[in-house]
Amino acid sequence: MISEAKEETEILRKSVRDFAEAEMAPHVLKWDEAQYFPLEIVPKMSELGLMGALMPPELGGSGLSYPEYVVVVEELSRIDGSIGLFMAAHNSLCTNHIYLFGSQEQRRRYIPELASGRKIGAWGLTEAGSGSDAGSMRTTAVKDGKDYVVSGSKHFTTNASIAGIYVIMALTDPRSAERGISAFIIERETPGLSVGKRENKLGMRASDTASVILDDCRIPAKNLLGEEGAGFGDCMQVLDGGRISIAAMGVGMAQGAYEHALKYAKDRKQFGKLLSEFQAIRFKLADMATEIEAARLLTLRAAELKQSGKRTTKESSMAKLYSSEVAVRVANEAVQIHGGYGFIKEFPVEKYYRDVKLCTIGEGTSEIQRMIIARKIFQ
Ligand SMILES: Cc1cc2nc3c(=O)[nH]c(=O)nc-3n(C[C@H](O)[C@H](O)[C@H](O)COP(=O)(O)OP(=O)(O)OC[C@H]3O[C@@H](n4cnc5c(N)ncnc54)[C@H](O)[C@@H]3O)c2cc1C
Repeated sequence: MISEAKEETEILRKSVRDFAEAEMAPHVLKWDEAQYFPLEIVPKMSELGLMGALMPPELGGSGLSYPEYVVVVEELSRIDGSIGLFMAAHNSLCTNHIYLFGSQEQRRRYIPELASGRKIGAWGLTEAGSGSDAGSMRTTAVKDGKDYVVSGSKHFTTNASIAGIYVIMALTDPRSAERGISAFIIERETPGLSVGKRENKLGMRASDTASVILDDCRIPAKNLLGEEGAGFGDCMQVLDGGRISIAAMGVGMAQGAYEHALKYAKDRKQFGKLLSEFQAIRFKLADMATEIEAARLLTLRAAELKQSGKRTTKESSMAKLYSSEVAVRVANEAVQIHGGYGFIKEFPVEKYYRDVKLCTIGEGTSEIQRMIIARKIFQ
């Protein structure tokens, strides 16, 4: 059952909305054009408790529930998907992986740094030759005395060049495919770790995307995260939560694009009438509003299930698949409603149109989500 939004959730929504409108909205186009990640907003996000959103207070987090976290990601993404993506990679991938599978010592050492925003987190699974087929990775971690030596590279890593802490997946037993994958915590200063060139992207241009190069990177064995060989299964659990973040990003960006289209339809006149008087435009907006609400409910349902401690593989994939495809449709119609002005950068809808596409790709493409859902319903 979907609960009614609690009063505290609405207060949280308002505080994140106020922050996003005041501190982000005036700059988003400039950040996008310059491909600039605004590190200057991180201290403000920390003050709001967003950098440790899902972590318990004893580890320096703000202890938000998953449904509350979804509201935060939605509100940031309503103004700028890139900041939603930054938030998602830091919280639900890197920090949450350490929280879910780390030892008490690892939790105490790394989570307060991440939750306070003193360090930014990144999470590297994808490689140049292995995306959807993540199990075919090539990066290796070879045990050498009390250390592991990690060699290889991770591709398309969000927050790669701004991170202080990386969770990196590598093969500890190359003969065992997925069962030979383990996760490691690697600190930025580790000799042998370097960051490759930042990608020049279609959308989400303020988000930092780069490769992480690991050149005989020697790390202490105590930085093994979870059990040796359990890394792939652990990643799948982390992604169950991560995909809810991407669903929330889709809802937020769709909501932003829809609001701009609604406002434009009420302002623009053609044939002596406002666009909002034409049934063709009214029906587009009606469909957009309905689909956004459905995506929001599906996302919230997955988040509530996750909060109750259940596995959400199917529900997370359904929310991610539906919400990201709704976001693409809504952003497309928002541009259409703006006519030629939708194609021009002074109007924000063109940016949503570019940014939303990432939702159908990151953390598993739409095709992969359909495969997961189909596997579950045929189980
Ligand atoms: C901006 C951005 C940020 C990212 N951030 C991160 C990050 O922080 N960490 C990280 O680890 N990764 C990250 N990624 C990587 C992302 O998760 C992958 O790009 C994604 O999983 C797809 O992998 P791929 O690009 O190799 O595409 P491929 O796997 O090569 O897929 C190409 C096409 O083939 C389809 N396809 C593949 N296999 C099948 C199949 N079995 N059946 C049907 N169709 C199939 C896909 O759906 C897709 O349409 C990021 C990517 C981007 C663009």
